[in-house]
Amino acid sequence: MNDTVLTGIREQFFGDNPLEVRETDHYTQEYVGGMVDKWDDLIDWDRRAEGEGRFFVDQLKARGVRSVLDVATGTGFHSVRLIEAGFDTVSADGSPQMLAKAFRNGLDNGGHLLRVVHADWRWLNRDVHGEFDAVICLGNSFTHLFSEHDRRKALAEFYAMLKHDGVLIIDQRNYDALLDGKTGGKSSYYYCGTEVEAVPDHVDDGLARYRYEFPDGSEYHLNMYPLRRDYLRGLLRDVGFQRIDTFGDFQEQPVDEPDFFIHVAEKT
Ligand code: SAM
Repeated sequence: MNDTVLTGIREQFFGDNPLEVRETDHYTQEYVGGMVDKWDDLIDWDRRAEGEGRFFVDQLKARGVRSVLDVATGTGFHSVRLIEAGFDTVSADGSPQMLAKAFRNGLDNGGHLLRVVHADWRWLNRDVHGEFDAVICLGNSFTHLFSEHDRRKALAEFYAMLKHDGVLIIDQRNYDALLDGKTGGKSSYYYCGTEVEAVPDHVDDGLARYRYEFPDGSEYHLNMYPLRRDYLRGLLRDVGFQRIDTFGDFQEQPVDEPDFFIHVAEKT
């Protein structure tokens, strides 16, 4: 019997050989329990807001966006920011625990009632209704898809949720630098909590396993697929996006080995 059964609290579970856990469905066992409680310490809303500045709001406003579907709501950081900037926002995620936290965070940060929908990207159109001017998938979330079939399916679902002239904004860690040994894999733009260590435990072509260490001694992990930048751009093109602009760390000008890439993909 494992701890989960004994305590009744669902915690992360990677089994006897964590490096073999390379499945899309496993994210539902990673964003649970303490990892959900600690997520906001990891990202630090104030510092993250400072790092991002107006980047996403400006990208969306420049395209006349009014309605946004946040498909990787997490604990609600971007959903709340976009609601405060005046966007009509729907907040989806496949982890019920993350959504519950997002809902509380919406209330606690400005009294916003988030419109949350529990939905997996692979079946998004089944669970989320309507069409949107923009879909956002941020915070290095797409990395949780472990097969090319799932990536293509998810992107096709995002594409279908958009109006004819809609835009998808999707980001990713700079895994090229990590895979090619050009960086240690830490980030100052996304995981901004000063007290938290986020370090890669293991990296190969099919897995980037990160360890998150918190000041109280607790440790959590995420198993992710290391997406290369041009591979994701190719998938975006294949699914039908006509124009894809890729930014490094929110900068218009190319940045030498950024922590993150942000792809802004337009349908027309
Ligand atoms: N966007 C938030 C942020 O930046 O703080 C959360 C990022 S967190 C790295 C990834 C989120 O994506 C988690 O909340 C997880 O539940 C969600 N997610 C991962 N795979 C998913 C899938 N296949 N369908 C729906 N949500 C998924």
